[in-house]
Amino acid sequence: MSLPLSCAYDVVVVGSGPTGSTYVREVFEQCPDARILLLDAGPKLGDPPGGHVKNIADDDLRARAQRAAEGPAPARPGRPGTRLLGTPQLPAAAVSTNVGGMGAHWTAACPRPGDSERIACVPDDAMDRHLTRAEELLHVTSHAFDRAPFADVVRQRLSARFDRGRPLARRVVPMPLAVTARADGTHTWSGTDVILGPAARDSRVEIADSCLCLRVLHDAGAVTGVSVRDVGTGQEATIAASAVVVAADALRTPQVLHASGIRPAALGRYLNDQPQIVHAVRLPDDVVATADTVTGRTRAEEGGIVPQSGVSWVPFTAAHPFHGQVMQLDASPVALADEDAVRPGSIVGLGWFCAKDITAEDRVTFSDTATDAFGMPEIAVHCRYTDRDLDSIEGARKAVAEAGAALGTPLGEAPFLLPAGSSLHYQGTTRMGAVDDGTSVCDTFSRVWNTRGLWVAGNGVIPTATACNPTLTSVALASRGAGALVEYVRDRAATAVGSTAA
Ligand code: FAD
Repeated sequence: MSLPLSCAYDVVVVGSGPTGSTYVREVFEQCPDARILLLDAGPKLGDPPGGHVKNIADDDLRARAQRAAEGPAPARPGRPGTRLLGTPQLPAAAVSTNVGGMGAHWTAACPRPGDSERIACVPDDAMDRHLTRAEELLHVTSHAFDRAPFADVVRQRLSARFDRGRPLARRVVPMPLAVTARADGTHTWSGTDVILGPAARDSRVEIADSCLCLRVLHDAGAVTGVSVRDVGTGQEATIAASAVVVAADALRTPQVLHASGIRPAALGRYLNDQPQIVHAVRLPDDVVATADTVTGRTRAEEGGIVPQSGVSWVPFTAAHPFHGQVMQLDASPVALADEDAVRPGSIVGLGWFCAKDITAEDRVTFSDTATDAFGMPEIAVHCRYTDRDLDSIEGARKAVAEAGAALGTPLGEAPFLLPAGSSLHYQGTTRMGAVDDGTSVCDTFSRVWNTRGLWVAGNGVIPTATACNPTLTSVALASRGAGALVEYVRDRAATAVGSTAA
């Protein structure tokens, strides 16, 4: 299905990734009469819609689904399921265009933010509640790889190196992952199908795929609907809506707002792309020998994690201002020259993310003349590493080298910095703020300043210099924003009933 079946909805959500799907689920549950349209510029990759591609057992079908997410040809493929934008200052910047968004391809690491990663303008107790709700929606667990033979020794060695002086809640632990472990030893990865839950199968919710939002329509400071295009036929339509949520990722949400003539001063600014330092380590022979006696299941698939090592987390703290994750090499971006010679599970990849120094000058801008593959304003990225970033990168290099030495024998020369954009964690471009002072796009409930009925969602709303993977946080903020949207929808419904009665 491409163009929506109806021409009016209570709520239209643009973008079906984890954050757009969160809005749908929350409004679906709390407003029993609301009619909701979820539209996405990309295709459905399988059944259920939004399911994680790692759950597709057949290699060819999975590869086909990943290619379908790259968008129109000719595409510059990035990591499987993504398309490189081709922006010179952020050369590895990539997006996914499919029902489920990047949430159909992600590694599913869901750490909670800590210390200065937390958002000062959202009260801590409220944020903790939203994070708990996000963990429920994403089916997050820290026990998916409890049976992994390498996991304990990896964590013991990391703990010995990093735990001294840390509060209990910020010590080395198994990474919380959005995954369900099955009794037969297999794993089901959470895509947006688990977030949508019953909403995906109810007639009140319509999912329109290959349906591009061209613009949010507004009049006299209030949203009136969206204008959309069927990506296949080029046919266009206008859809009326009381409220619109734009959840089109941190690069394309500001693109939609820009195209709509909604341009707060902070739109596209404060871009946060976390610098990422990586390295690989061979575990000592005695550890590998022990693990060989255990029958762990290995699945040699792109992006897969095998239970030999699981994923370990070295949390961000003020004293260690990096987010460290240590995982089996299949899930790591480090390439090995002689992969065949390596015993499965004996190599772990280390990835340390830095908290970027956030400045208004780091930004995305949009062309008024050139267009991208979808006919939307072409995106340009402007960003650079400040002196503080360069210091931070050096600090992360040292921390990775120390972690590597604690774990085994480092492979290759030294830890190295991945090309900018490799994080896939772009943030800040529609950031939230406590007041409308020109440094934020929306309030702390993700309502866009000065445009009634318009919400933004995704990693773009996160205003702080996080180093950790951001999806859990942005799903939590989406759940918070959805609370305000529910009120708005109820108020509109009550007003409509009142005016009918009068
Ligand atoms: P997205 O999931 O990006 O979805 C945005 C959607 O908007 C897309 O489906 C797109 O098609 C649609 N869209 C864009 N423009 C329009 C338009 N004009 N009209 C209609 N639709 C539009 N994050 C973590 O926290 N932990 C991880 O371990 C992790 N690992 C990752 C590994 C990989 C390989 C990848 C690709 C990503 C990973 N991420 C990870 C990032 C994570 O997937 C994203 O943070 C998350 O998906 C963002 O959710 P979102 O809803 O904001 O946007």
